[in-house]
Amino acid sequence: MIPKHKSILIIGANFSGLTAALQLPKTCDVTVVDPSPNFEWIPGIHEILSGVKTPQGLRLDRADIIARAGHRFVQDLVTRIDARKRRVTLAGGDTLNFDAAIVAVGGIGNSYQIPGVDSHTWPFRTVADSQAIEQRMNTLQQKPAPLQVVVVGGGLSGIEALGELLRRYRHRPEISFAMVEASTQLMPGFPKTLDADLHMICQEHRVSFHTGESVARVTPQGVWLASGKRLPSALTIWAAGLAPPPLLREAKLIRSPHTWAAVHQTLQSRYAPSIFVVGDAAALPKPVSKQAFNAIDMGAVAAYNVTRWLADQSLKDFKPPATPLLLAFGDLQTYMIAGKTVLASKTLAGAKEGVYQLFMAQTAPQPGLQGVPSALRRRRKSWKELVVPGLLSLKDFRATSDCRPLKLL
Ligand SMILES: Cc1cc2nc3c(=O)[nH]c(=O)nc-3n(C[C@H](O)[C@H](O)[C@H](O)COP(=O)(O)OP(=O)(O)OC[C@H]3O[C@@H](n4cnc5c(N)ncnc54)[C@H](O)[C@@H]3O)c2cc1C
Repeated sequence: MIPKHKSILIIGANFSGLTAALQLPKTCDVTVVDPSPNFEWIPGIHEILSGVKTPQGLRLDRADIIARAGHRFVQDLVTRIDARKRRVTLAGGDTLNFDAAIVAVGGIGNSYQIPGVDSHTWPFRTVADSQAIEQRMNTLQQKPAPLQVVVVGGGLSGIEALGELLRRYRHRPEISFAMVEASTQLMPGFPKTLDADLHMICQEHRVSFHTGESVARVTPQGVWLASGKRLPSALTIWAAGLAPPPLLREAKLIRSPHTWAAVHQTLQSRYAPSIFVVGDAAALPKPVSKQAFNAIDMGAVAAYNVTRWLADQSLKDFKPPATPLLLAFGDLQTYMIAGKTVLASKTLAGAKEGVYQLFMAQTAPQPGLQGVPSALRRRRKSWKELVVPGLLSLKDFRATSDCRPLKLL
C-alpha cells in the first residue's frame, strides 16, 4: 500500500517510461515528463524510408494515453535532476519535486567526436530523423546523375535502414550503397552467419561493405576512413551507436567513463535510492541488450518496485525476457535470432508486423470502436507490403548455414 501523499515522477515516456506509467495505479500521484507529444515506435522507423510506414502510423498521442491511465503529463524537457533534494528542473523553468523517480531517458546518437559527423551526417534515431532522410532521398533521386548513399553502422538500425533503401531503390541503377562497420562483421555480437547471409543477398545489388573500418572524418562530399579509403557520399546516414544523455552524468547517476547509469538488479540506482533507471539508460550488473522488449519489461518492474520502495517493502529483481530478436532486411529477408540460432524467412516479416500492430492497438489512446479508423490506417499498407508477400513465400523457411533450426510448431 503506497502512502497517497507520495509523488512519483517519470522522466521520459517512450517504451520503458510509458510502460511504467501504464502499470502504476490511478490512485498513485504520478507525473510524466517528456518533451515530445508522441510515443514513437522506434523499431519501425526504417520503414518510413521505403514508404511502407508513415510517420503518423508510428506515433501515438502521449498526453491521451497518460490521461487515460489517470496520470499527469507535462510536455517539457528535464534539464537537471537533483537526486539529493529529489527535485528536477524543466527547460520551461519550472521545478518538480518527487518522492521517487523513474528515469527512462534512453540514449542519444554517438558521434564519437569524429570531425564532420554532427554537421554532415543524418541521424537515425527518431521518426523525424527517418522522415528527413526520406525527403532528402526524394530530392536527390530526381537528378539523373549517379549517387551513393553511405550508412555508417552495421548493427540493427543500420542494417534495417539499408534493407528499406534497397526495397525502394535497388531497381535504380544510378543509386549505389556503401556500409561502414568498425567491427569485423555485420551485426556485431550476433551469430556470424547473419553477416554471411547479408553479404550473399547483397551480391546481386550495388552495395559495398567496409567492415573492420572506422570513420576518420565526414565532409559534404563523402566519408574518409581511417585506412585512407574515401567513399563518395551524397547522403551519409549515421547509425553508429548510442551514448548516454549528459543529464545522467550531471545528476551523478553515472560515475565512471564509458558506462550508463549503474543500477542494481532491482533497477534502483546504485547512487540514489529514490531513483530507478530503466531501458537503454540503465547499466545492469550483467548487461542486457538495448532493445525495446527489455525496456518494456524494465518499465513494468520499476513501476512495481517504486511503489514497494515507497511503502518500505522488499524489491524484486528484473529478469531479462527470453524474447527473440526480429531483424528485417527490407523485402529481401527477415531473421529471427534467439541466442545462437538464426532463422531466415520472408514470412517472418508478418510476425514483426504483428508485434507492432499488437503493441500499438494495446497502447492506443482510443479503445474500442473509436480506435478502429487509426488501427485500419496502420494496417492497410503494411498488410499489402509486409504480410501478404511473406505468406506467399511460406516455403522459404530456413536456418542460415551454421546454426540449428528453430523448432516450429
Ligand atoms: C532504428 C532502430 C531500430 C530498432 N529496432 C528494434 C527492434 O527491432 N527491436 C527492439 O526490441 N528494439 C529495437 N530498437 C531499440 C529500441 O528502440 C530501444 O531499445 C528502445 O527505444 C529503448 O526504450 P527506452 O524507453 O529506454 O528509450 P527511448 O525509446 O529512446 O525513449 C526515451 C524517451 O525519453 C525522452 N527523453 C529523453 N531525454 C529526456 C529529458 N531530459 N527529459 C524528459 N524526457 C526525455 C525522449 O523524448 C523519449 O521519449 C531499435 C532502435 C533504433 C534506433
